[in-house]
Amino acid sequence: MSLYRQDDPNVRKCLRHGSFHSKGNILLPSNTCRNLHHVKSSLAWEMGSTLATMLRMRRPTTVLWSLGFCFLLFLYVLFPSTNTVADQCECHSNQNPVTANSFFGHSLVEDSKPFPNDKHKLAVLIPFRDRFEELMEFAPHIHKFLNAQHKNHHLYIINQVDNLRFNRASLLNVGFLESGIDCDYIAMHDVDLLPMNAALTYEFPYDGPYHVAAPHLHPRYHYPTFIGGILLIRREHFRKVDGLSNKYWGWGLEDDEFYARLKEAKLDIFRPGNLTSGTKHTFRHIHDRQIRRRDMIKCYNQQEITRHRDRQTGLSSVRYQVQSKIEITIQGSPLTVLNVVLECDRFVTPWCDCTENIGNTPKTPHDFKKTEDVIVPKLNRKKHLSQDG
Ligand code: UDP
Ligand code: MN
Repeated sequence: MSLYRQDDPNVRKCLRHGSFHSKGNILLPSNTCRNLHHVKSSLAWEMGSTLATMLRMRRPTTVLWSLGFCFLLFLYVLFPSTNTVADQCECHSNQNPVTANSFFGHSLVEDSKPFPNDKHKLAVLIPFRDRFEELMEFAPHIHKFLNAQHKNHHLYIINQVDNLRFNRASLLNVGFLESGIDCDYIAMHDVDLLPMNAALTYEFPYDGPYHVAAPHLHPRYHYPTFIGGILLIRREHFRKVDGLSNKYWGWGLEDDEFYARLKEAKLDIFRPGNLTSGTKHTFRHIHDRQIRRRDMIKCYNQQEITRHRDRQTGLSSVRYQVQSKIEITIQGSPLTVLNVVLECDRFVTPWCDCTENIGNTPKTPHDFKKTEDVIVPKLNRKKHLSQDG
């Protein structure tokens, strides 16, 4: 949907002087301005003919009437001086509809809410690079799945187009900032994880973050603090923890660091109960590990730094540019593709590009005294990891 800019002086004029009704995708002033125009022209016409009659009768009161007429004419000219009738009535035709993204730097309204009984709207944020085949399956599937639950939603593909290593966390921060402010909760959603059990609800998470891809249901990851894959969170909770760290370039740990943020903010994490579909049939994980290799390279002092809680970076410090924004439809499911160029501060995270330094060479000394700042417990991999994907 496109909107008129309400900060445009012409639109303000229309907002002050006429109520709006919506027609199709654009807002139009109602008939009130046309009615006002009629009243004013009739008034002028009436006054003109009265004066002509008075002059024809050559009565002494003529001068008085003429003075009165001049006064009324003066008022007439004065009143519309800030807002001519013509201006008002052209409100609907003069404005350039703007794409919602140019308003406050946010998408304002992308879709309507097709399910009026659902008072909420979900922005499904999909961090993405080079996963076209997965997207072809994911988009129609999730669109149908959410429609079946009568959930207002919109899909955002946050496509990383720079030459740096993939940064899932920063892309989610960007998705949050660029998605519609009419969406009051987000899903941090992997493109290769398809919910298969209709009992998996994508309800507005009133009480706190809701981890759909729970460890007892996820096909691959089963450790108790796991919150990756699919997580629903209210906008205000995401903002409260300053989103995700921007220090995680390459695969892994950004979700564990986010877990530490939620815990520190005393946000309880909710999960689905036991489902009979278990780890095998609750989700479909479209991930062939030979074809979609995880980028597990570590360089500079990445390993040391990313084992710890990040108190420096997050939603408020993510640096990026939206190169372009494209609306597409895949088999009837509308989605917004944001082509995003992430920026990397090479002094803080030189490991955003490991082409020069493969291996784990400590570069800058970091003083991590607090043991509670360590975010990765040593896992019993056999117990907490399935061979899926
Ligand atoms: N992803 C992507 N391109 C990449 C790496 C990751 O689009 O090169 C996105 C994609 O949404 C994927 C998610 O990041 O589902 C998580 O990555 P991956 O599937 O490799 O991690 P897993 O959870 O399977 O270990
Ligand atoms: Mn995967």
